[in-house]
Amino acid sequence: MENKIPKERKKVLDSLFEAFAIVAEGAFVYLCDMKYDYSRWSKTAVELFDLPAEYMYEAGKIWEEHIHPEDRENYRREIEAIFSGLSFGHDLQYRAKKPDGNYDVCTCRGVVILDQDGVPEYFGGVIRNHGLQSQLDELTGLRNQYSFFEALQTNIRLQNRIRICMIGIRKFTEINEVYGYHFGNMILQKFGRYLMDHIGSRGSVYRLDGTKFAVVFKDNSIEEIQKIYKNLREHSREGLCIDNQCAILDLNAGLITLDNFSINDQTVYACLNFAYGESKDRKQGEMVEFYNNLTEENRQRIEKLHVIRASITQEYRGFYLLYQPVVDARSEKLIGAEALLRWRSEEYGMVPPDHFIPLLERDPLFPDLGRWILKRALTDAKEILMYCPEFMINVNLSYTQLEKPDFIPMVLETLKETEYPPEHLCLEITERCRLLDMDLLRNIIVQLKTKGIRFALDDFGTGFSSMGLVKNLPLDTIKIDRSFVLKIEEDDKEREMIGHCTGIASTFGAKVCVEGIETSGVRDILQEYQVQSFQGYYYSKPLEIEDLISWMKERKIK
Ligand code: C2E
Ligand code: MG
Ligand code: MG
Repeated sequence: MENKIPKERKKVLDSLFEAFAIVAEGAFVYLCDMKYDYSRWSKTAVELFDLPAEYMYEAGKIWEEHIHPEDRENYRREIEAIFSGLSFGHDLQYRAKKPDGNYDVCTCRGVVILDQDGVPEYFGGVIRNHGLQSQLDELTGLRNQYSFFEALQTNIRLQNRIRICMIGIRKFTEINEVYGYHFGNMILQKFGRYLMDHIGSRGSVYRLDGTKFAVVFKDNSIEEIQKIYKNLREHSREGLCIDNQCAILDLNAGLITLDNFSINDQTVYACLNFAYGESKDRKQGEMVEFYNNLTEENRQRIEKLHVIRASITQEYRGFYLLYQPVVDARSEKLIGAEALLRWRSEEYGMVPPDHFIPLLERDPLFPDLGRWILKRALTDAKEILMYCPEFMINVNLSYTQLEKPDFIPMVLETLKETEYPPEHLCLEITERCRLLDMDLLRNIIVQLKTKGIRFALDDFGTGFSSMGLVKNLPLDTIKIDRSFVLKIEEDDKEREMIGHCTGIASTFGAKVCVEGIETSGVRDILQEYQVQSFQGYYYSKPLEIEDLISWMKERKIK
């Protein structure tokens, strides 16, 4: 650079640099006099990265050479924006190369200082070196989950509109089982490498846990990402080969556009996981976008989810259970109740479970909430047992709870802690359980049944697989969904359906509970069928525990 910096300006640069160094707390400092593009860098950085000198002209360009090729474009764009006066600061993450060829992950935060005329004069900041190990995935060499969350936090802080795609491999356990674990690892490695090459400079690739990867896109439209995924899927289906052995890979993908910055990284991740789960469970691997129309309602839903998630970690603040009576179909006496989850806050009022359970059930926090629900329900039910000895408490389960290896010990421990008799607990599973391995599910049910716990199939008839579950699982009760009884009074066919459902239940030795009884007319009709119990607004809406006790006493059905 011909334009050599005058001595006085260098002095100013030095004193400003010292000020930065004091607040940098050990991080590397850089400061650039933008009028001369003359910089001073921390000695420690110069040594670690083998930079030419502490004082450098065009340090930005020199530093660029040290940045990982994949991260370079992003870096260059940011620096250009700063030097052209379009941006007044940056917060970047990139990998920087050391003389031994290894890369360290660094975050770099900088600000522009303007002169009295408002023209950019200095650009300075700190570079934090996160080291090599903690940020990279050892198997694939990609950036890891930790690094993903850091990037996510940074993007939220800077309010960068990004799109995040979670891509994973379907049924990878089968590959491990068929070809062995070592081969499985090599496939993951190869897939990671392929994904990185395929994405190129369009986005940054991370390996999350297991077989899941994430790609962060800055500028691509949904259509472009769909196309990228389509190609990736086609290629993976053709098979990835290692030493003449090829594994055909099927993928799943979820996508979220980050344009709400009032939520945190964990909530974004929960939403992304939800979209991914939908792709896996319902869409045979098609890419699912998390609420592709981000209406005001959906926006509020995400924000609400954010607050609800936080409540779980704040000792379940705002969560409570209501209990809906279950009565004997003949005597109409109380024989049990179903525990139904609610959440309430000052801001949102009471939120029904349908609004948050489907979003939350794949969240790593959900099992904790599941345990809390069971404990609360058993503690309350114990009180009712004192008045009503045959009382049965029904607790709903989400299929994701059953997947957890500690599910059985969790239930048994909770029974022990609360000193609750297992024969008075009935766990409700839903048709969604078809997504689990049938042997695993049967095994869990059989093991818990030997302890005396009962099982019911909820919402019977609302999905396609209810029959399969009834056939394969030793269920005690089948709960017929209220959609079946809505028109029972005027429609013969609906009545016939009830007849079939009760027939199926008795073939397999299960009792029948009908949900959603709203009128005495419906009750009268159903009393002619093989139905053992009723539940519905005709008897009572879900009640607080104290109200359930009063309800029971008022009806004198001790
Ligand atoms: P579900 O287990 O089938 O619960 C029955 C739902 O039907 C409840 O809605 C109940 O309030 C409602 N209901 C009962 N009788 C009537 C009636 O006569 N008419 C009408 N219109 N509705 C009636 P809720 O409490 O909103 O729960 C919705 C769903 O949320 C539940 O369906 C269940 O799948 C899920 N859920 C609730 N609590 C939990 C929980 O603790 N854990 C899990 N995993 N899921 C839960
Ligand atoms: Mg239920
Ligand atoms: Mg139900």
